[in-house]
Amino acid sequence: MADNTIQIMLDKCVGCTLCVKACPFGAIQMVGKKAAIDMAKCTLCGACVPSCKFKAIIIIKSAGEKKDLSAYKDVWVFCEQKNGVIQSISYELLGEGKKLAAKLGVKLCGVLLGDNIMSKVDDVAHRGADKVYVVDAPELKHYQDDPYTKILVELVSEYKPEVILCGATVVGRSLISRVAITIDAGLTADCTGLDIDEKEKILLQTRPAFGGNIMATIITPNHRPQMATVRHKVMKEAEVHKAHKAEVIKKTYSAETLKSRTTLLDVVEEIEETVNLAEADIIVSGGRGMGSPENFAIVKDLAKVLNAAVGSSRAAVDAGWMPYSHQVGQTGKTVCPKLYVACGISGQIQHLIGMQSSKVIVAINKDPDAPIFKVATYGIVGDVNEVLPALTKAFQKVLQK
Ligand SMILES: Cc1cc2nc3c(=O)[nH]c(=O)nc-3n(C[C@H](O)[C@H](O)[C@H](O)COP(=O)(O)OP(=O)(O)OC[C@H]3O[C@@H](n4cnc5c(N)ncnc54)[C@H](O)[C@@H]3O)c2cc1C
Repeated sequence: MADNTIQIMLDKCVGCTLCVKACPFGAIQMVGKKAAIDMAKCTLCGACVPSCKFKAIIIIKSAGEKKDLSAYKDVWVFCEQKNGVIQSISYELLGEGKKLAAKLGVKLCGVLLGDNIMSKVDDVAHRGADKVYVVDAPELKHYQDDPYTKILVELVSEYKPEVILCGATVVGRSLISRVAITIDAGLTADCTGLDIDEKEKILLQTRPAFGGNIMATIITPNHRPQMATVRHKVMKEAEVHKAHKAEVIKKTYSAETLKSRTTLLDVVEEIEETVNLAEADIIVSGGRGMGSPENFAIVKDLAKVLNAAVGSSRAAVDAGWMPYSHQVGQTGKTVCPKLYVACGISGQIQHLIGMQSSKVIVAINKDPDAPIFKVATYGIVGDVNEVLPALTKAFQKVLQK
């Protein structure tokens, strides 16, 4: 099988250097007024191709090894549980998985591993699963890499799902990367959008790339299952339909499969975070436009009146005005509150990724052209130093009635 490769059509290259600027990896140089690609640096990302106005750069894709993929059916969601409680990320994935399964015309299946977990099967069924694969064993009470990985690999080998979705949580990231490498499947981490290519019937996995400067849609045409992780609060939870029933497939595995190379000594609950941004219904966030750390007091004042958590942009965190635990965005937390108030935040893509699925977004910014207004439900053009105290006063009046 020939690998993918890239070529410069020397007869078309005019030496304009646009491709040199477009290459994020510094892999293109001009040699004798023609572009030359250093294949040791090139990742075949393709950023140079559209930059060339003369169509002088082409990526030649190999047909790839053709496998029989027809045996792979259904959309699976790994339903993460903690202390026997199914985590809400699983319901978010079931909601998204249902749409994908409907487009593919296949079943939505939940995978549930734990101890004494049979009573939770209905929770998965009520959120839309048509089938639930359950493995119930004391060894699976708490997540452990070895047994969880071995079991999921065995289930995949036996039942052949075409899509597997997993939460981009500490557990999910650890588990699904191990499964992907063992079964030689692709894995797209931290997807912010999932869809089905209706013609090809393949999963479209969209995620930020190059530091969030572009959104890349990734496909896995030659391998199955197609696997993706999604962060908490990016997708909407599936609704509860108590009448919905699922076929239950209960599996048992040998002691060898359940064995772990590590011994779990104790599980220590995390000491409560100062801010529980991820679960907050209302968040008031401040950015560089707040001007100083002291000025965050007016953000906190409004948050207090609204009984809200306080968020922050990375600029304010980097400036040392707020601790990292408050950061919302690509490298911070993903949030989905009912109300998000962005104060002095410009709305760069890396911030939007973390909050744009909030139900109502109110933006306060003195620049009427700030990108945050493009995603805002309500925009207030003005100085935070005037608008925030006025809002706090007005809400105080209304809410104390
Ligand atoms: C790999 C990578 C990951 C990143 N991850 C994140 C992330 O997780 N979260 C994140 O937030 N960013 C992240 N960033 C940074 C991001 O690109 C932006 O730099 C950052 O979000 C900007 O923060 P800001 O909006 O507070 O500041 P700015 O972009 O400087 O915007 C300040 C805004 O305040 C307004 N303003 C100024 N004064 C006032 C005033 N008195 N009243 C009203 N408005 C005022 C201005 O008009 C401006 O729109 C990341 C960047 C990279 C490269």
